[in-house]
Amino acid sequence: MSVHPLAKLDHRYVWHPFTQMRDWLRTEPIIIAEGRGAVLEDVRGRKYLDANSSIWTNLHGHNHPQINAAIARQLRKVAHSSALGLANEPASLLGQRLIDAANRPRLPRLSKVFYSDDGSTAMEVALKLAYEFARRTRGVRSPRFLSLKGAYHGDTIGAVSLGHVDLFHKAYSGLLFRTESVPAPYCYRCPHNRAKPQRADAREYRKCNWECVAKVEQRFSAQKQKGDSYAAFVVEPLMQGAAGMIPQPNGWLKRVSAIARSHGSLIIADEVMTGFGRTGVPARDASLFASHHESVQPDLMALAKGMTGGYLPMAATLATQAICDAFLGYYADFKTFVHGHSYTANQLGAAASLASLDLLQSPKSIRDRMTLQNALEENLARLWDLPQVGDIRQVGLVAGVELVKDWRTRAPFPLEHRAGIRVCDAMARRGALTRPIGNVIVIMPPYCTTPAQVERIISALDESVSEVLGGPTYNRKARRLEREKA
Ligand SMILES: *Cc1c(COP(=O)(O)O)cnc(C)c1O
Repeated sequence: MSVHPLAKLDHRYVWHPFTQMRDWLRTEPIIIAEGRGAVLEDVRGRKYLDANSSIWTNLHGHNHPQINAAIARQLRKVAHSSALGLANEPASLLGQRLIDAANRPRLPRLSKVFYSDDGSTAMEVALKLAYEFARRTRGVRSPRFLSLKGAYHGDTIGAVSLGHVDLFHKAYSGLLFRTESVPAPYCYRCPHNRAKPQRADAREYRKCNWECVAKVEQRFSAQKQKGDSYAAFVVEPLMQGAAGMIPQPNGWLKRVSAIARSHGSLIIADEVMTGFGRTGVPARDASLFASHHESVQPDLMALAKGMTGGYLPMAATLATQAICDAFLGYYADFKTFVHGHSYTANQLGAAASLASLDLLQSPKSIRDRMTLQNALEENLARLWDLPQVGDIRQVGLVAGVELVKDWRTRAPFPLEHRAGIRVCDAMARRGALTRPIGNVIVIMPPYCTTPAQVERIISALDESVSEVLGGPTYNRKARRLEREKA
């Protein structure tokens, strides 16, 4: 088969994000031509399940008639007009809908929406607001931030400064401002977890004394000794995404939030990945946001990826009234928040977001998400039969599967072995698309994915792990008997 003409153009002109281009140029890329529901189709007519929701953005599936119609309706009116000095219809309506969705009874209120373009800009806005808030209300001269080890909050310089992923961030250390970090509760590899590896999510069998929470308290106390508290504690609630799908044990978020609050620090929740229902349907009330699963309300909430249902780049930073008030004054006080982007409050994005919220808040979507969550749980369970599966971490509608040399020792594959990349390549050949984070395989399908499709995604992963990493001699049945005996 000759190289596709579009592949030639791509190879010649396009520089891909987070991609070693030398490797990229070796093979013909998958060129997506269309999508419908959970399925993407390439220019050669091959079909794939979108097992990572197009890098965590898609919610209701591709080519969704309701979102398509909403965008088309808006397109017949106007595609974009500036938010600098002008208001518009869908952005106003969406403001109300986002604020309604982000507030729960008995939790402090979020009251204002600042629009931007993507997760990184939503975090830059949160960062700048918290910085100025600390300076203006507490007279702190150079406010400091505390975030988690392994945190990823985007690729712009402020967001990178908040992050702590050496692989991504070290190269730019000269450009960054200093932030402090505390360990994330990574139970599977936690030095304080005294439990031997078992065939279960490490959170369930961990043996510890919440040392991770004590460390947060220590950090805040140490900062107090220096004379002030952090401007903000920055956290991805319930699960850190790009860190490797690292979930927090029940109660962690509530505890550390209480510590941050008791020290007078703001809480910035980066819900770029977790927002809009991704972390599952809570039992009591169907909040769309991860923070609320632990009855935590942040002072600033960053939203992006799923906001438009995965259609258009649009983001929002939600803020409390107290924060907004710190920016109010006479013109000549120069307290204005001087920040904004050309496409802020874009009408097409806002129209798509409104349609996506309509879908999310429908009983059918809630039912579908519960079905998907159960299907993921049932299917993921069989991966415990693979000796190269060390940990399976599911939070609602997202899961990370950590591959190791041997589950008994938790010994990791060196990154140079590209174990995760090779497994995902093998999955693509079996018709399931996802990207690894190091040795962690991300499973995060659109909400419309059926149990049968989940079964195909997990089978593709199962077979690919065996093909790429497992000897053919591995005896699945013997392993299962051994497990049942234990
Ligand atoms: C993806 C992501 C970001 C950055 O969002 P972009 O839209 O890629 O700029 C920030 N925070 C979290 C938690 C993310 O997952």
